[in-house]
Amino acid sequence: MTPLVRVTDLAVHFPVRRGIGGPKGVVRAVDGVSLDVVGGETLGIVGESGSGKTTLGRAMLRLVEPTAGRVEFDGRDITRLGERELRPLRRRMQPVFQDPHAALNPAMSIGDAVAHPLLIQGLAADRAGARAGAAAMLERVGITPAAAFLDRFPEDLSGGQKQRIVLARALVTGPSLVVADEPVAMLDMSVRALVLDLMAELRRDLGLTYVLITHDLATARLLCDRVAVMYLGRVVEVGPAGEVLHHPRHPYTRALLDAVPRMAPLDGDPAAGRARLVAGEVPDATDVPAGCRFHPRCPFAFEACGPDGTEPVLEPAGGVEVACHLVRLAPSGAGNPPGMGNEEDPGEEKHGLFRTIVERARGTGVGTEDPNIVGDAGPTDAAPGRHPDSHWPPNDPGEIVDPEAPA
Ligand code: SF4
Repeated sequence: MTPLVRVTDLAVHFPVRRGIGGPKGVVRAVDGVSLDVVGGETLGIVGESGSGKTTLGRAMLRLVEPTAGRVEFDGRDITRLGERELRPLRRRMQPVFQDPHAALNPAMSIGDAVAHPLLIQGLAADRAGARAGAAAMLERVGITPAAAFLDRFPEDLSGGQKQRIVLARALVTGPSLVVADEPVAMLDMSVRALVLDLMAELRRDLGLTYVLITHDLATARLLCDRVAVMYLGRVVEVGPAGEVLHHPRHPYTRALLDAVPRMAPLDGDPAAGRARLVAGEVPDATDVPAGCRFHPRCPFAFEACGPDGTEPVLEPAGGVEVACHLVRLAPSGAGNPPGMGNEEDPGEEKHGLFRTIVERARGTGVGTEDPNIVGDAGPTDAAPGRHPDSHWPPNDPGEIVDPEAPA
C-alpha cells in the first residue's frame, strides 16, 4: 500500500552565523530521515527540544525547504514543486500549531478566520457561502451554537475554544493529513483531555491521518498508533506506540521514559517519583557528535559508538526499528538491546543477557567485524575499550549499570 506521506533521506539544514562577523555554521535540524506515514494512522514524533521534530513536520508540509532528500504526498513528489503547483495540495495537508493564541489573527473574526481557507482555495463561491461552511465546521468541533461565535474575536475566547477554532480552520478544506505540533501543550490540563478526545473523534469520523509532534509521551501513547523517536535530527526508534513506549529498545527512548515524573505512593518516599534525567543536554546541532550522535550522553556507549565509530542506522529489532549498535550484538532472534529480555527464548536470563551484550561490546572488538564499524582503534595504553580522544562518558568499564536490574 502506498503510504500517504513518504519521507526519504530528508535533510533540512539552516545556515547560521555566530554574532556579527562570527564564524558560519550549519544547523542540521533534520539530518537524514526516512519515514512513512500510512493513511488513517496517527504517527507520533517525539523527542526533546532541539531534536528536529517540528522541522520534520514542517518539511512534510513543505513549510520549510528541504536541503536534500524527498517528500512524497499521496504518491507525488512534492519536494521541488513551486507554490502554484503546491496550492491545490495544501488544502489536503494542513498544520495545527502549538499556540492557539498566536495562530489566530486578533483582528479577524472567528467566522472570517475559518471561512478564509475556503475562499483562498476556491471551495466557496462567495463570503456568505464560506461563512456557512465555517459555521458547519465550528459546530463539528464543538463551538456551539456557531452563529453566536462567527462575529466574535479571539480575545473573547478561552484557550480551549481557540484551539478548537484552529482545528476547525485546519479541517474546513477537507484535508487528508493534519500535522499537529504540540496541539495541547499550551492548554490547561483539564482542557487537554477534551481536545485530545475531539482530535481522536475527528480522525475516526473524517478519515484523517495525523502526524502528532509532541514531547509529552502520555499524549503520544493516548493518540498514536506508531511513534518515531527523534534525537538530534535523526529517527532513532520507530514502531507501534505500545512497543516503543512500554518496551523501549533504544537507550535514548528509555532515557526519555525514565525522565517522566511519576506520582510517589501516599505512604512512600516523595522522592521516589522524581524523574531520572538523562545526562547532559541535546548537543549543538551545528556540531553533531561523530559516530552515534547520542554517544556523549549514552550510558551504554562503547568504542563502536564513539568518534571513530559509525552512525548506527535503523534496523529491525523485535517488531520495531532501532538505530543502535547494540542491536547487532543481541543474540540472534533476541532483537533486544540493553535490559530487554529475550522474547524468543524465555529461558534466557534477562539481566544476564544485558550483561553479556555490554561485556561483549566493551574493548573486545566484538560487533566491529562490520567494516563500517571501526573497532578498537586506540593505542595500547588506552583504557580498555576506550579511545583516548573519545568524549563518551567516563564510565568505569568494569561497572555495568543495568537499569532493569532489581535494586
Ligand atoms: Fe548508545 Fe552506542 Fe547505541 Fe548510540 S549506538 S545509543 S552510543 S549504545
